[in-house]
Amino acid sequence: MSGLADKRKFYINGAWVAPSQPRDLEVIDPSTEEPVAVISLGDQADTDAAVAAAKAAFPGWSRTSPAERLAYVERILEIYKRRASDMAAAITAEMGAPQDMSLNDQTAAGSYHIETFIEAFRNFEFIRPLGPHAPNSMVAWEPVGVVGLITPWNWPMNQVTLKVIPALLAGDTVVLKPSEIAPLSSVVFTEIVDEAGLPAGVYNMVNGDGLGVGTQLSTHPDVDMISFTGSTRAGIAITKAAADTLKKVALELGGKGANLIFADADEKAVVRGARHCFYNSGQSCNAPTRMLVERSFYETAVEQARKVAEETQVASAHQPGRHIGPVVSKQQWDKIQGLIQQGIDEGARLVAGGPGLPEGVNRGYFVRPTVFADVTNEMTIARQEIFGPVLSIIPFDSEEEAVEIANDTIYGLTNYVQTQDGARRNRLARQLRAGMVEMNGQSRGRGAAFGGVKASGRAREGGVWGLEEFMDSKQISGWDPEA
Ligand code: NAD
Repeated sequence: MSGLADKRKFYINGAWVAPSQPRDLEVIDPSTEEPVAVISLGDQADTDAAVAAAKAAFPGWSRTSPAERLAYVERILEIYKRRASDMAAAITAEMGAPQDMSLNDQTAAGSYHIETFIEAFRNFEFIRPLGPHAPNSMVAWEPVGVVGLITPWNWPMNQVTLKVIPALLAGDTVVLKPSEIAPLSSVVFTEIVDEAGLPAGVYNMVNGDGLGVGTQLSTHPDVDMISFTGSTRAGIAITKAAADTLKKVALELGGKGANLIFADADEKAVVRGARHCFYNSGQSCNAPTRMLVERSFYETAVEQARKVAEETQVASAHQPGRHIGPVVSKQQWDKIQGLIQQGIDEGARLVAGGPGLPEGVNRGYFVRPTVFADVTNEMTIARQEIFGPVLSIIPFDSEEEAVEIANDTIYGLTNYVQTQDGARRNRLARQLRAGMVEMNGQSRGRGAAFGGVKASGRAREGGVWGLEEFMDSKQISGWDPEA
């Protein structure tokens, strides 16, 4: 075990503490399959200590002024930016994002969210009049209390900042349980929060797995809310576990995004869609994994997507460049291989990629960028979230059929539309059952929220909505507007 970074400690009540029981877990670098660090998996005593610290800190923290909380978050942002290269290195090692992408996208997503929360918070009105018809009625926004935050491995700092920052700004106190597969970035993040000097107990971090710390937080009587991002399976388990204590539960789960490409789409539409699908090695819940193409343009689109797959370089995350890295773990690699094989077995046309390691690679969890054409929406590869660089192309004959296929999924996170026809875009934006619709390659504007419907969960993260998510509204009457 010598040579491995020792990251066994938890952060509870303002100090780094040893776990109550030793339970080691190695963090594996997916580019090399070698362990790089060791963490501890917490148990009930660790969870209880963190929750108790958060509970004790809540009365004081919830009464601080918004300006005071803002100043702490501004300090976190400053330190986060200074520690960007440490953060990027941690993410590269723990989940395999290539080093340039890790710095410029994965790490930058964190500072982007902190900045946009600061902007939303500056204009946030904690107490608002109900309306001119009711001059004595007010709506106040109040912190929920102690909040448990459970995050996944695919966009580690994106998720952590989307939860920790609004919770702190709202006046909540928190216990973070990052993914046990990608915990190293959260250790760096915790060092950043520690350096920012928040009052003890306001922010706590306990590593652990879903069945341990994850479940302990979800069932804990002193935790008022769980905010979770990850699989739909775990989202259901958490909702059930949280029911007995009537917690508020916010869920950001999987997706099976449809990308509707019409024959009049701009000439980069297919290339953009395929690249987006392969980005982060396909490990994004909002990936446009089902490409729906108008029949008259279908074979051209298939050809363009094949070219993108063949041109996408796959290489070690420890190399500079714009390639994609490995997927996160052996378990995910096996799952993706199984789904690729199932695509072939169910009769989809394999256009690029396929099972096995990319040519010349004999270690690391690398997947060949894969394109299937002639997919039907009933096939497993069109229904299940694969979480690998695998694109499924489905033809359609009419706008109505495209909407029907797009909406025929348990998920409802992001859908995409490519057409030059503005009226059609506006119509489809309303007809697609999803939390987000992104059209003609325009990403959501600064301050927009992220979130879905149906089995994608209904959390709203980011912007004003992401702040309100971590608060309860209080309806007040008999208010004296003159006092
Ligand atoms: P997961 O849902 O198992 O894990 C995510 C987080 O939840 C981790 O911190 C984990 O420890 C915790 N967790 C797991 N089970 C729990 C439980 N019963 N109670 C409380 N916490 C629990 O996801 P994963 O294993 O990391 O990935 C599996 C699949 O989830 C992926 O293939 C993908 O489909 C999906 N996923 C989606 C997203 C997303 O952003 N929507 C992110 C990661 C994974």
